[in-house]
Amino acid sequence: MNRPVNVDHEEVEKFDRLAQTWWDPHGEMRMLHVINPLRSRFVLQRVSGPPTRVLDVGCGGGILAESLARSGVRVTAIDLSQKALKAARRHAEMHGLAIDYRCSSVEQVAQEEAGSYDAVTCMEMLEHVPEPRAVIAAVARALRPGGAAFFSTINRTAKSFLFAILAGEYVLGLLPRGTHHYQKLIRPEELRSWARAQGLEPTGSASLMYNPLTKRFRLENDKEDVNYMIFFIKRAA
Ligand code: SAH
Repeated sequence: MNRPVNVDHEEVEKFDRLAQTWWDPHGEMRMLHVINPLRSRFVLQRVSGPPTRVLDVGCGGGILAESLARSGVRVTAIDLSQKALKAARRHAEMHGLAIDYRCSSVEQVAQEEAGSYDAVTCMEMLEHVPEPRAVIAAVARALRPGGAAFFSTINRTAKSFLFAILAGEYVLGLLPRGTHHYQKLIRPEELRSWARAQGLEPTGSASLMYNPLTKRFRLENDKEDVNYMIFFIKRAA
């Protein structure tokens, strides 16, 4: 196998080390469990009925992939952390879910299966790769014309530094320390311009708003605050 170029091995090792904790709702990945119902609803409301073929990029332990599969979507889910994939496969098997998990980069899938997917989800992953633009290009390539791409990441603003990094990792301990590096966070306008250059038209966005008092998140449409998602449609060629 060719060694994928667009990967930060330290990042993947970090997720390897956390692999035991993917499905512990009180463990280090708990924030992903907390936000997942909001993310999966956002995606499912925007993809038209099964059997839609979805590619989940940087799937980790399969938290999003499983909720998509449960709703009847055909899911292929990829990651470069073997340990995360092992946890994902084991959990899906235990719950009788047929998800096609692969240890593969999105660049590889795009090359082998260009134009094959109705939707691609790529959540909380772009801020962990050296070249997010190349990931976006590969996502666009994997999609069929008219297909939908969903990206979520964290905005690069002072507020994000304060809330997602300082408070989230160091004060409240909601995320493992060292999860995010400020300079790798991505502004929505950057994400949109990289995506547009690949034929992806921005169609909507939403932000996960955290209330520290209730310790709950809610989704606010048309907002790009700290933790945001943008939804794109691939233009017809
Ligand atoms: N998308 C999942 C997991 C997010 S954690 C969710 O939101 O629930 C980020 C994941 O991206 C980790 O599992 C990590 O191993 C993976 N990752 C990092 N770089 C990658 C790359 N270049 N290709 C594929 N996966 C990658």
